[in-house]
Amino acid sequence: MSPASRPAKPTPGSSPAITAKQMDMFPEQPVVERLDPVAVVGPRTGATAVIRVRLRSVESPHLIFHDRHGWYCDTHGPGCEAVPVARESQHDAAP
Ligand SMILES: [Zn+2]
Repeated sequence: MSPASRPAKPTPGSSPAITAKQMDMFPEQPVVERLDPVAVVGPRTGATAVIRVRLRSVESPHLIFHDRHGWYCDTHGPGCEAVPVARESQHDAAP
């Protein structure tokens, strides 16, 4: 008696198909436009950056400010969904 018990090999070929469906989340590219803080707020502003973010063309743009308090939306505050978009765009342009 010779028990030839080999470990069963896993059969390849049954890998699940990879389907990326991220297009539903961001159907449009946000339009980010950097503005001059002095031109927008005035010469006495403490803002170091003012960025207009248009997430969707059907919506009005968000005005994102950056000052010593951090980043915040003029309309929705620091929790606005446009804030990270503006912050990332600044990170790109930073020297
Ligand atoms: Zn906003």
